[in-house]
Amino acid sequence: MSRRIIPVADFSAAPVIAGPVQTPTGVLHDTLARPLRDLRISVTDRCNFRCVYCMPRAVFDKDYTFLPHGALLSFEEIERLARLFVAHGVEKIRLTGGEPLLRKNLEFLIERLARLSTPAGHPLDLTLTTNGSLLERKARSLKDAGLTRVTVSLDALDDALFRRMNDADFAVADVLDGIAAAHAVGLAPVKVNMVVKRGTNDREIVPMARHFKGSGAVLRFIEYMDVGTSNGWNMTEVLPSADVVTRIAEHFPLAPLDAHSAAETAQRWGHVDGSGEIGVISSVTRAFCGSCTRARLSTEGKLYLCLFASAGHDLRALLRSGASDAGIATAVAEIWQGRGDRYSQLRGSSTAETRVLDSRRVEMSYIGG
Ligand code: SAM
Ligand code: SF4
Ligand code: SF4
Repeated sequence: MSRRIIPVADFSAAPVIAGPVQTPTGVLHDTLARPLRDLRISVTDRCNFRCVYCMPRAVFDKDYTFLPHGALLSFEEIERLARLFVAHGVEKIRLTGGEPLLRKNLEFLIERLARLSTPAGHPLDLTLTTNGSLLERKARSLKDAGLTRVTVSLDALDDALFRRMNDADFAVADVLDGIAAAHAVGLAPVKVNMVVKRGTNDREIVPMARHFKGSGAVLRFIEYMDVGTSNGWNMTEVLPSADVVTRIAEHFPLAPLDAHSAAETAQRWGHVDGSGEIGVISSVTRAFCGSCTRARLSTEGKLYLCLFASAGHDLRALLRSGASDAGIATAVAEIWQGRGDRYSQLRGSSTAETRVLDSRRVEMSYIGG
């Protein structure tokens, strides 16, 4: 049988620094006037799950070649880049992957990042997204290293369904224990992300809402997205967030809440009895590109300006070429100032731009969610 080749990574060259040195000012705007505020850093392309919508086993099987260790950014390299991004205005860093808790000694990286502060002297919001399988074991050391909060992915409470969705036989109980441990050590408020696939796990929406109501965790429902090219995404499997809210409100009355900030991706709804809130992230049905302030750094140091980008800017090549901090900061500034990405707004419009992206997008497990 012929194997399908999935373009998980691109091989773009190192950025060329075109203009004069740009000293970071703490505010950098792209072509759509969006500031650079968030940085997502993927620390590994490996994962112990094989979620059907992210790393389908048919593609990410035993013959799949993950990045060799030497290709990964070292902790020193990540810290150096993070410091320059923070000088340019980044206030929030999220570690992701793959499964970030699989990266050896991740706590050492967190300790380094936790020492950074914004130009105004504020500590960073330093968080991490995990599948939760190793969280019970690691919550205490993550907190002690300086992690602020944690987001845990959980797609179902029904154990058989959850095992089918992660396709690696992990039990719901492991993840719930991880959430409890995170809560206990103060990595709070814990956010719980559920990707909703219509026809697969949408029957779990109300049980999940019931379970986390009053628990202190903030449950968020994410529309299934067309990231990458390996998951065989189909619009018919997207359940619009509006339907999610309707289904929950039939059981538990909800009232809309204000956004914490203009860049917040989730629309918030509060339980009217005061027992907490839920959020919906409508990446497909209600694009939020206009307020997207996120950059993504892949495991091997490519900078992506959009989750749906097909090419990254090779900051690792720049780092390893011996570039100075001023040179790298200038390259980052020029890249961000040239950014015009807004894939979700254009999705389905079949412009030349989206047609190219549709065929060459990088995978979520490589770029980080
Ligand atoms: N392994 C970690 C985890 O699962 O939380 C971190 C990386 S994962 C790529 C980050 C987030 O992306 C998870 O919450 C996951 O559910 C979400 N995700 C992955 N593929 C997705 C898709 N096709 N649509 C929507 N969300 C997706
Ligand atoms: Fe792994 Fe997270 Fe992707 Fe699932 S969503 S396969 S846990 S990286
Ligand atoms: Fe940001 Fe790209 Fe998502 Fe739009 S599609 S919100 S620009 S990551």
